[in-house]
Amino acid sequence: MTKPQLTRGYEVVIGLETHAQLSTLSKIFSGSSTAFGAAPNTQASPVDLALPGTLPVMNIGAVERAIRFGLAVGSTIAPLSIFARKNYFYPDLPKGYQISQYETPVVQGGRVEFLVDTVTHSVNLTRAHLEEDAGKSLHEDYQGQTGIDLNRAGTPLLEIVTEPDMRSSAEAVEYAKTLHRLVTWIGICDGNMQEGSFRCDANVSVRRPGAPFGTRREIKNLNSFKFMQQAIDFEVQWQIDLIEDGGTVQQATVLFDPDSGETRAMRSKEDAHDYRYFPDPDLPPLAIAADWIDRVRADMPELPAAMAARFQADYALPPIDAALMTQSKQFAAYFEAAAKTSGSPKLVANWLMGEVSRRLNAQGAGIEACPVDAGTLALLIGRITDGTVSNNGARQVFDALWAAEGSDVDVLIEAKGLKQMSDSGELERLIDAVLAANPKSVEEFRAGKEKAFNALVGQAMKATRGKGNPTEVNEMLRRKLA
Ligand code: ADP
Ligand code: MG
Repeated sequence: MTKPQLTRGYEVVIGLETHAQLSTLSKIFSGSSTAFGAAPNTQASPVDLALPGTLPVMNIGAVERAIRFGLAVGSTIAPLSIFARKNYFYPDLPKGYQISQYETPVVQGGRVEFLVDTVTHSVNLTRAHLEEDAGKSLHEDYQGQTGIDLNRAGTPLLEIVTEPDMRSSAEAVEYAKTLHRLVTWIGICDGNMQEGSFRCDANVSVRRPGAPFGTRREIKNLNSFKFMQQAIDFEVQWQIDLIEDGGTVQQATVLFDPDSGETRAMRSKEDAHDYRYFPDPDLPPLAIAADWIDRVRADMPELPAAMAARFQADYALPPIDAALMTQSKQFAAYFEAAAKTSGSPKLVANWLMGEVSRRLNAQGAGIEACPVDAGTLALLIGRITDGTVSNNGARQVFDALWAAEGSDVDVLIEAKGLKQMSDSGELERLIDAVLAANPKSVEEFRAGKEKAFNALVGQAMKATRGKGNPTEVNEMLRRKLA
């Protein structure tokens, strides 16, 4: 065990519950569409409206996605799991209960690993269970009234629950990012956080090192990594302030307000018995046969962690680079294509982490939005390694490619006059002229002053108007002065 990381003398303890909306076309127990953004209540069938006499029918696609997830994190897939009714009263829940899984979830155990500041962390999963989403209350635009939209009612969710294994907001955010990458990678969730397809509840407590776990408060519905970090950081300070002032933390459900940056109690936390869970008599136990699991396993893609390990082995990438190159399936495919074509994987990784990511991040876009394809980037990098352009020149070409000023690397290099001087006859003439014009520097260099050499390199590069290949200029000068 490493020494606990302390905040004002307290250890932070975090467990996350994540709702990943499963990417099925229809709902978990009805045939209505799950498409986002339709007019209110146009995608709510009698089952979603909870009309009397309707019965739920399990969506096999949702179960398959749960199996995929379980296999990706090394869980046990329960051969038999049970749906339960979680009873509570709320306007957006017309049945008066949510169908969920309670004592026997479909996915049990498992583990997620990730890097925080180059250190590997591992978070144990308690479980992941299938459940239906509720509808939505709309408080705006209704002249003081509240509208109910049941389009979301019955949308399939996988709730992924961790053990209280995280010890900082940075760790929680890295876990959430890793989980987000994984569910999109294996194609079970579109990961759209603005639309609520991936949202986290953070359970946070603090304790003195070595003491039993403190009482937790649960921050609901965090739909951005930035908010998660801010919310947890605020909550930790709030709990420590309270304890230092002699108070005790009460178990509660809280909301994060991004405008004030504060968490605020919503209600005191329910306990499980408040929900009067019991097995849903309308649904038989969910039976998953071993051969189904085998078929799903056979269809699994190479997972991000395995791919990152392969990138380290095959392309000699450092662990951090490999993690970044596997930030999404598309990113990894882009990297690998460019790495293979250019033959300079580390340079490709540098360009992707630098020039490419900087521009994409500024637009908040993913690699899919990169206007320069992998083959073109590989070609450009090839022109650096074969000495045609300098790094600086290549950046200018890349700017032009990005701005769609052209698409042909060589044409752009030519048009912008960025070709480094490769005709050594011309370079020799220029260098001879520089040596003739700077007898003092030559004399100083011969007297042992290395600084004088740098001055001569500077003069020579200037004479080539930046187009001299620095290595070549250096070598030729050394030869001439030897
Ligand atoms: P509930 O179902 O009421 O939300 P659980 O016991 O299932 O409660 O726990 C929910 C989440 O809270 C889990 O992710 C768990 O790791 C986390 N958790 C439990 N105890 C603590 C604690 N003392 N501090 C922080 N997180 C906790
Ligand atoms: Mg909870």
